Amino acid sequence: MLTPYQPTPLADFGRPEEARRMKEALELVERQLGGAYPLRIGGDDVWSEATIVSENPARRGQVVGTIASAGPEHATAAIEAASRAFEDWSRTEPEARARCLLKAAAMLRRRIHEFCAWLVYEVSKTWPEAYAEAAEAVDFMEYYAREMMRLAGAHPVTPYPGEENELRYLPLGVGVVIAPWNFPLAILCGMTTAAAVAGNTVVAKPSSSSPIVASRLFALLEAAGFPAGVLNLVPGPGSQVGDLLVSHPGVRFVSFTGSREVGVRIFQLAAQVHTGQKWLKRTVLEMGGKDAIVVDATADIQEAADGIIASAYGYQGQKCSACSRLIAVQEVYDQIVEAVVEKARGLRVGDPADPTTALGAVIDDRARARIEAAIAEGYSAARCVLSGGPAPDTGAFVPPTIIADVAPGAKLAQEEIFGPVLAVIRARDFSHALEIANGTEYGLTGSVYSRDRLHLELARREFHVGNLYFNRKCTGALVGVQPFGGFNMSGTDSKAGGPDYVGLLLQAKSITERF
Ligand code: NAP
Repeated sequence: MLTPYQPTPLADFGRPEEARRMKEALELVERQLGGAYPLRIGGDDVWSEATIVSENPARRGQVVGTIASAGPEHATAAIEAASRAFEDWSRTEPEARARCLLKAAAMLRRRIHEFCAWLVYEVSKTWPEAYAEAAEAVDFMEYYAREMMRLAGAHPVTPYPGEENELRYLPLGVGVVIAPWNFPLAILCGMTTAAAVAGNTVVAKPSSSSPIVASRLFALLEAAGFPAGVLNLVPGPGSQVGDLLVSHPGVRFVSFTGSREVGVRIFQLAAQVHTGQKWLKRTVLEMGGKDAIVVDATADIQEAADGIIASAYGYQGQKCSACSRLIAVQEVYDQIVEAVVEKARGLRVGDPADPTTALGAVIDDRARARIEAAIAEGYSAARCVLSGGPAPDTGAFVPPTIIADVAPGAKLAQEEIFGPVLAVIRARDFSHALEIANGTEYGLTGSVYSRDRLHLELARREFHVGNLYFNRKCTGALVGVQPFGGFNMSGTDSKAGGPDYVGLLLQAKSITERF
């Protein structure tokens, strides 16, 4: 019998033993940088002429690894391999499938610092951010394994005289998993293993910005016992390989996490029924956010400022759940801006391999240029209260930026920037603050700092987001504790890490026998 699911505790790097383990892992991984990685199709290494070179965003020119890049023939071969593997895997006992996840979770737990180090080098996560992500990957597997055990077997329905009735959950088929770079381990792991534990087979396309972490994860999963062909990995350009995978008639469902733009495109492509296709494709699409923290006149200002700093600048603001809008009522507007600016000034920007770093680099120089352009545009329309500041020139660094007096409808307050940029918006009163908070096309996370019970109850009802928090940061959802997913253009609200998630990857069969 299994112990009940519990989230993995976070690491305390203030403890010398924990810090030593992380330093050793960074040294170990640094010695392995620059390796060559294949595609994985049907349990085989496959090499291609085209490659993707993954570089450390904080150290321009430091190659983390080079990976084969899939072309159309590889994408097709991967779908065929997954289709073949589905025959046996879909008939494998759900408990046996779940044990593959439990084994992989145990293996990842044992090597957690090593995986953290890969996250530091490939996507510029600080130590605590990397650990939180690796712990989330472990949690997804522990949680989904137990979920499948719960969903296995015959489920009772309303008894009917003279008949035996039951409901069983069956896998769907071949699923395409398309993942972003900002949680290259946890999100890829969660989407892939949830699909696989349900009895589906997977063709995964990681982001071109984080293929090495993906390859390392897939090697671990295969070593944990998933049979050949159940999990296939085909990194490659989204616009080519991604489109082909989504459109292929042999694909039964698509699990995607990424931007609104790409999510909408996948939604449209997947809706088309191609010759030879026997089903309507299911899509699970998790997209962007323009998340807000609301501060009212009764809030504890210092606590609110701490929550805003963690939410806006954790992982350089590159989380779908990041706070990119601070909405403050006029009574405390100046106070909260002052407190946040002061704390943001104290954040150290630098190489995340150094444990004193608060903000590493953004994902690449293209992202840096895009974020800087958004800041420059924001400057001209509003009041910049914090920008610039010391940052190394060895990589794609962007210091924390705060722009105040932003109009609720301004581009800076409406579009996802995905960087360390906070727009501050003034509200007349609490109702106006909620109206502004709800005034974008997104609806992912939100938080309210208040000591007014009526305000909290109003927000509980009216703040229209998938993940709502009171008197705490709006990032850091825990698997099983805060099932995660957003409303409106933030996606299909699939609630990853929640009791409804694995069900999205199954189909129910009702069976009746009359005696
Ligand atoms: P992205 O540009 O949309 O890319 C996501 C994935 O889609 C990548 O693997 C990408 O491949 C692939 N892709 C690109 N074009 C494609 C196409 N035409 N067909 C199929 N796949 C295609 O997003 P990102 O920059 O990696 O990630 C950041 C975004 O993800 C943000 O908007 C963030 O809010 C969102 N996000 C949402 C959640 C959530 O749970 N709601 C969680 C994390 C992140 P290439 O890398 O090869 O282009």
